[in-house]
Amino acid sequence: MDKILNYIGGELVKPAGDAWLDNFNPALGQVYSLIPDSDERDVEEALRHAEAAFITWRFTSLEDRFKVLNRIAEGIDAANDNLARAESVDQGKPLWLAKNEITRAGQNFRFFATAAMQFASESHSMEGHALNYTLRQPLGVVGCISPWNLPLYLFTWKIAPALATGNCVIAKPSEITPMTAFLLSKICADAGLPKGVLNIVHGLGPKVGNAMVSHPRIKAISFTGGTATGKHIASVAAPMFKKLSLELGGKNPNIVFADCDFDKAVKTTVQSSFLNQGEICLCGSRILVERPIYEKFRDALVKEVSVLKVGNPLDKDTKIGAIVSRQHFEKVLSYIDLAKQEGGEVLLGGNALQMQGENDGGWFIAPTIIENLAYDCRTNTEEIFGPVVTITPFDSEEEVLTMANCTEYGLACSIWTNDLTRAHRVAANIHSGIVWINCWLLRDLRTPFGGVKQSGVGREGGWEAMRFFTEAKNVCVKL
Ligand code: NDP
Repeated sequence: MDKILNYIGGELVKPAGDAWLDNFNPALGQVYSLIPDSDERDVEEALRHAEAAFITWRFTSLEDRFKVLNRIAEGIDAANDNLARAESVDQGKPLWLAKNEITRAGQNFRFFATAAMQFASESHSMEGHALNYTLRQPLGVVGCISPWNLPLYLFTWKIAPALATGNCVIAKPSEITPMTAFLLSKICADAGLPKGVLNIVHGLGPKVGNAMVSHPRIKAISFTGGTATGKHIASVAAPMFKKLSLELGGKNPNIVFADCDFDKAVKTTVQSSFLNQGEICLCGSRILVERPIYEKFRDALVKEVSVLKVGNPLDKDTKIGAIVSRQHFEKVLSYIDLAKQEGGEVLLGGNALQMQGENDGGWFIAPTIIENLAYDCRTNTEEIFGPVVTITPFDSEEEVLTMANCTEYGLACSIWTNDLTRAHRVAANIHSGIVWINCWLLRDLRTPFGGVKQSGVGREGGWEAMRFFTEAKNVCVKL
């Protein structure tokens, strides 16, 4: 059985305790590799190497930092086919989607490599008496913890800005999807990243993750994952005054007004509902449709979704792959049961799918559309994070704002309308960090990314990430 290894001090190494965890292929429901069950000893060892590497990495010229990070981007691009296949097998997502995400992982490194060359700090002149200049210094050794839904895409989104700003990193991918992070360690070594600058420690959140969060010499934690985990991390890190960036869950509204471009709204809603089996924090899982087009929109959506092929992620015509783990599969099904108990009417799906042939042990759920639920019931306010959406009519802008803003989450929202004045007004009144008008998941990496309320604290992307991974120090010079 293949073994994934930790990447510590530039070497691929076994965990200190020589203990291993099963890694599943969700489309088969079978173990296909083993991953290190690391513990605090591995984190300590990674920290020793990272602190030693920091002494030189922080003073490495911007151009040299750019060059090595750019070589990592090129290494990811060159390995796209291999990485995409590994991601699809590990996570359950369709291969074509994995290819797009691996492309984005390369872009993350390229984007922050160039940002390193262009990041500048401010100076403030005091009318000839004094001059202030602000240094933006790296923090030291920082921790990056990422989830299982977009594994390499989100892992690199954190690591790249941390390295670009001169920090050394200890990173932990989700134990559920560790494979592409392991492959990245080889790409980093081949690209000439100095030993110890990036260390990848695999294992369980409560063990490895917790050892990182609670370690006094790890200066910041950049975390993407569930809200409950985020709360726990904040409770451990905040009393230590650690810098924290928390990108958490979502329960995003997708608001469709009657004057929208109907066909575009339906087509994009299919994507925003079910891309990556609905396992994207930005998915619009609550579809709110203005009453005059409610039935027409609902019927068109059901028709489009009913022909999506669910099945082997490696088949090129598969649109919806496997659910990432048995535990998550059961959680999603339990929410479908809850929706039924709450009076929901299942328009499409609503069940697990038993595949034939080699995928007969895999975890598959039919794309599910549910109506007739109260806008503030549990199904409509708790994150399901699977191929399950609800659809609800509304009568006025005021009513839809109440519905959209009723959850404890505030990550993203889509608004479909051709009335621009209304679009801007609704965008301004939605409680979320990200709003898309007449589109979804259109990303410019320079823009601030993150949520409000229980969807998180802080922003990633562009200069926001470069600022998070640096400490501002003002120097005042009397002239
Ligand atoms: P989890 O919160 O379960 O896990 C996220 C990461 O944290 C994993 O690496 C996990 O390790 C680790 N972890 C778990 N417990 C601890 C702990 N006590 N201390 C430190 N680290 C810990 O989230 P999921 O992996 O289930 O991801 C799904 C969630 O992520 C959804 O809620 C989704 O909305 C959110 N998400 C948010 C995004 C955003 O940008 N806002 C983007 C993508 C996802 P392990 O896997 O070993 O448990």
